[in-house]
Amino acid sequence: MRYFYGWVDPHTHMDERGPEDFKMMGIAGIRNVVSLAHPPMRVTSAEILIEHYHRLLEFEVRRGEENGVNVLIGIGVHPSAIPENDVEKVFNLLPSILEDERVVCIGEIGLQTGMKLEEVIFQSHLEFADKRPLILHTPRKDKYEILRRTIEILEDFGVEAERVLIDHMNKESVKIALEFGAYAGLTVQPGKLGPKDVEEILQLCDEEEIKKLIVDSDLGSYPSDPLAVAKTAHHLITKVGEKYAILLCAENARRFLEI
Ligand SMILES: [Zn+2]
Repeated sequence: MRYFYGWVDPHTHMDERGPEDFKMMGIAGIRNVVSLAHPPMRVTSAEILIEHYHRLLEFEVRRGEENGVNVLIGIGVHPSAIPENDVEKVFNLLPSILEDERVVCIGEIGLQTGMKLEEVIFQSHLEFADKRPLILHTPRKDKYEILRRTIEILEDFGVEAERVLIDHMNKESVKIALEFGAYAGLTVQPGKLGPKDVEEILQLCDEEEIKKLIVDSDLGSYPSDPLAVAKTAHHLITKVGEKYAILLCAENARRFLEI
């Protein structure tokens, strides 16, 4: 069984966090955590990324088990982690890594600055993604332009919108992701959203759109909160009702990831 009861945090980078965070998340009832690939360091070679994937699969899954958290993995080439050489080595290996049952999605991938190489790498994932869920990054800078270009590429490739989570949405951009038909990621993190912002976004949405909102922490090396999903769930329980906490902090992510 890949899923346990409890909240789901579908966007983290657990390899950048200490064991205390795993434990706190487990205590807070965040039992299911997806740790996504990202730039682990300056990616001067394909080997660095390949080792990063192995670390996620072997080390982070085990650290999760030791601390009462079910760690699932997302694999891909982040737009800020494109190897300087031999990127084809990574793409030759990705299809076999995706067969591992702990890998539940491709991510995090997408565009950061929108330069041509990023587009080529993003499109390369879409060629072998098949029906797998995709977790897409969007940048702070030029968010709208990059978001629109991301959606154009997805449409060109005929990607079904319901297997896409477009992350780091805010009050202004969330409807663009929802109108495309994708899941909209709401990252609760200093400088992005707080639980109150999630409540306000929820109020802007109808019942069908609410089924496409997913809260995450993007827990990593930048200021972030391991309890972001649990705190948001608690806020929603007290302000709008448990039904919405369960949708935004567990059920929508489960449906999207098929876990
Ligand atoms: Zn991230």
